[in-house]
Amino acid sequence: MSREEASLLTGELRQAIDYERRYQYVDVQGRRKPFSRFIQESLSRLEAHLRRLVDDGALFLALETLTQKFRQYAAMDLSQRMGVVERLEQFLALMAQTLAAPQRPAQRYANASPPEGDAAQTDPMSAPVQFLRGVGPRLAKLLAQVGVETIADLLYYFPRHYVDYQNRAAIHELTPGQDVTVIGAVVSANARMAKSGNVAILTLTVTDGTGRLTAAWFYAKTQRGALEQFKARFVKGADVMLSGRVKLDGYNRCFALEKPQAEILSYEDAGGEGDAPPPLNAGRIVPIYPLTQGLNLSFLRRAIHQALGEFSQAIIDPLPETIRSRYELVGLREALAQIHFPESLAQHQAARKRLVFDELFWLQCRLALLRAQYKRTARGLALARREGGYCDRLLAMLPFSLTGAQTRVFSEIQADLASPEPMYRLLQGDVGSGKTIVALLTLLIAVENGYQGALMAPTEILAEQHYRKFVEWLLPLGLRVGLLTGAATAPQRREVRQGLLNGQIHIAVGTHALIQRDVDFHALGVIVVDEQHRFGVRQRTLLKNKGEHPDMLTMTATPIPRTLAMTLHGDLDVSLLDELPPGRTPIVTSLLTRSKARQAYELIRHEVSKGRQAYIVFPLIEESEALEAKAAVSEAQRLQRDVFPDLRVGLMHGKMPSDEKDAVMAAFTGGQLDILVSTTVVEVGVDVPNATVMLIENADRFGLAQLHQLRGRVGRGQSASYCVLISDSRSDDSLQRLTLLCESQNGFEIAERDLALRGPGEFLGTRQSGLPDFALADLVQDHAILEMAREAAFELTASPEALNANARLKSLVFEKTDHAFAALGAG
Ligand code: ADP
Ligand code: MG
Repeated sequence: MSREEASLLTGELRQAIDYERRYQYVDVQGRRKPFSRFIQESLSRLEAHLRRLVDDGALFLALETLTQKFRQYAAMDLSQRMGVVERLEQFLALMAQTLAAPQRPAQRYANASPPEGDAAQTDPMSAPVQFLRGVGPRLAKLLAQVGVETIADLLYYFPRHYVDYQNRAAIHELTPGQDVTVIGAVVSANARMAKSGNVAILTLTVTDGTGRLTAAWFYAKTQRGALEQFKARFVKGADVMLSGRVKLDGYNRCFALEKPQAEILSYEDAGGEGDAPPPLNAGRIVPIYPLTQGLNLSFLRRAIHQALGEFSQAIIDPLPETIRSRYELVGLREALAQIHFPESLAQHQAARKRLVFDELFWLQCRLALLRAQYKRTARGLALARREGGYCDRLLAMLPFSLTGAQTRVFSEIQADLASPEPMYRLLQGDVGSGKTIVALLTLLIAVENGYQGALMAPTEILAEQHYRKFVEWLLPLGLRVGLLTGAATAPQRREVRQGLLNGQIHIAVGTHALIQRDVDFHALGVIVVDEQHRFGVRQRTLLKNKGEHPDMLTMTATPIPRTLAMTLHGDLDVSLLDELPPGRTPIVTSLLTRSKARQAYELIRHEVSKGRQAYIVFPLIEESEALEAKAAVSEAQRLQRDVFPDLRVGLMHGKMPSDEKDAVMAAFTGGQLDILVSTTVVEVGVDVPNATVMLIENADRFGLAQLHQLRGRVGRGQSASYCVLISDSRSDDSLQRLTLLCESQNGFEIAERDLALRGPGEFLGTRQSGLPDFALADLVQDHAILEMAREAAFELTASPEALNANARLKSLVFEKTDHAFAALGAG
């Protein structure tokens, strides 16, 4: 019955609202009482009904707040009245929604277990921010501009930085030239016109009790609005933070700030700002939030403080107690409170640790679940290495023995293959670290067990290169290798397809052509995907589906620091080839300015005279590939005409059709070209051992990892090789990075340093980043927390029973990672 009564009441309330509107919010007199009175009484009746129907803290809170507002209605001005009436309407809409939702037993929030599908809908934390006292439609709109719509959004709107009141500079101790932050109260804010010119000077004077400090800004006289705003913002008595460089203002005989920046911290003492703000006393660390026009700091602080207080019971910590205590993590409620209003630096650190852990933990759980899903899909093949088999025979024939790293990685792979769980392993190895032989050995284990192997490469050039190596190595073993690329003629294709189908071809090497629908295997056991980042999940899956749960090894020559790999490839097992085969002559790397380019040209000429070859690479200088291609064309012409008239110069760029590119590449590989001028299309993994010089123009425009990749195109033969970086950049940052490259040849070391220098976003390049946006976590700084989160997540998910028992946790994993996971593009 109550349900009907509630909706009846709602109807009456709506009518009253219409009436009041029509009468311009005069608090219209009804038959027995004025509008505001009627609303108050109706709301209290409504509450009684609702209590029997739902258990929704946020709803009641909103109701109570509204009732209070209507008690003050008579004293409000027009705009305030319009505001509260609007809120009432919103409340009615929300209530109707809540009532329409399926019924639930009371007390569900106190009870940690049942995560039904629409739990988020009724979670008090997902109540709109307007439920907070002091947050009306106008502020809600402003908050929405910074992405804050719900109470949860608000609590997770973290400070950008903090001002440590304890360590602020005292004005009487300032010395000219110092860069300082001073906190004080506004003494005065004045605008005056300069005597000459068209300038207005705004001067702010503040005191911190030890002295006075001024700061001045200049505006065009025409910016009247700015002048007004200035005076309105810097009310006498308001707390402000001023930063800038100290100078002595001789005219006023006091300190002033150069290029000052001011931020209002609080209007606490200024009066007239409504509800009491949270205390902002000396001895506290004060949060500073990213703001938007019209959204002021003291308001935000107050709203968050209030939300923390009123919704404290709704903050339920989903982390199991065992994990919390094991990793010394503070509770969620405390963490949220201390990240906003830290009582000490130590407490702030603890709060941050907990919240960073959360961000990483859920994602790791999701990755762990994904991994578990691969592994459980079905029983894969158990392929054990045979004594005296093809692996042993190939190894005995090789002119070299495996490096320590190759041996270690191959045994990791063997363990995967021998287990019935399908292998999902990523092999990261620097250029030249010898991934190819590891890939081949992996494929041979399939062959030893009567299965076939397949290797997929991103380009025809790479596929052919692998094919030639494989044939050379496997012919003596009496094994057959098939090549399948788009370039194959129809009869060739038919022959290879036939061989794969009847099992006469043991190992297939190819490009995307391998995953065409008409390609079938007799028994595909192991697949290797080279340069895996060049393929999508779909393509890898298509290849996998050519067999019954084959084992998969993916490879990449782009070293990614461990912290990134754990996030980007967290669902895979990762092996590292972090050692180069012995006997390599190091690549001599040097840095030259443009004006010294002639030295590099001499070097190229000298090497070519010895029968060697050289690459000259141009970065993306222009904004479009077409323009870039044009630049490369004219540069190649210039080099041929002015610098190397007697040498054979070839050109390759991204705008060329792929058969032309292949032709140029083939000419270079075959030694019919001395110099290859190119944009960045020089394929990763291209192997021309006779090339000994890599000259990179405008090297500062490349990322370190990319430079390292390019450099890896040389130094592949016996003879000494050179890499010359040309850059006119004077920025410390680029010089630091380029110098690092001159000093190190270890791809992993370079990647780590590059990541530290540039941060994950730039390191990966926006285009292919795929990294989720973390609010707090910093993959460089927080690697220790990441390790913890990963350990905890993998332990938790290792036992599916434990996770299933805690269904709420499991649904949280999905809820909390949907966004990040979409970015990762996994799954
Ligand atoms: P990448 O990891 O870049 O694919 P490759 O597999 O092409 O590297 O190996 C680079 C070169 O090193 C090849 O010529 C290969 O034959 C050789 N190589 C691989 N492993 C060893 C080793 N253990 N000792 C000596 N040379 C090796
Ligand atoms: Mg390779």
